[in-house]
Amino acid sequence: MVSAQNALALLRDGNRRFAADVRSHDALASRERRIELAAGQAPFAAILGCSDSRVPVEIVFDQGLGDLFVIRVAGNIVAPSQIGSVEFAAEQFGTRLVVVLGHSQCGAIEATLEQLQRPKENQSRNLRAIVDLVRPSVEGLLATDLRHDPNALLHRAVRANISASVNHLRRGSEIIEQLIREDGLLVVGAEYCLETGVVDFFDGVG
Ligand SMILES: [Zn+2]
Repeated sequence: MVSAQNALALLRDGNRRFAADVRSHDALASRERRIELAAGQAPFAAILGCSDSRVPVEIVFDQGLGDLFVIRVAGNIVAPSQIGSVEFAAEQFGTRLVVVLGHSQCGAIEATLEQLQRPKENQSRNLRAIVDLVRPSVEGLLATDLRHDPNALLHRAVRANISASVNHLRRGSEIIEQLIREDGLLVVGAEYCLETGVVDFFDGVG
């Protein structure tokens, strides 16, 4: 089992390689590795990321087959199926690091801010389910001076949503709470920058 701190170091090293354009993921997806993994997996980290096509999790952390347990959903929101997925990884595979990975210019956060400022009547019910989960962490920002600065507002809203997902996961279930208390499970938040390729671990890293 890889400890949370060691897992964090592996992700940081991998992202450094990716941002410096020195990638090894071709080798990490080899035929040999695939065959070896058919017998079982032990992913060292679980990542809750956004579905955005510009943030493929294995690539930005320069990891290969079998390394990461990845959950992707627009806006990296937390609903019961995401909590269940994290429980599954932690219990079945001994994964001890959980990362909520948001990113700059996130369309789900933009859509939520847009909906709060200029509500649309005919929004799809399913899309609204995502917006409703993002809303509580960002609507308070619209009452501050940030509402006059769209870029700063979006940046703060992205981070607020990441932190809200981190908190939600930490208190998401009895199983997760117990793993945090007794078994070294760590839940942290990070933001990926589309322009630089750098992941900033800003929440829960100590
Ligand atoms: Zn996004």
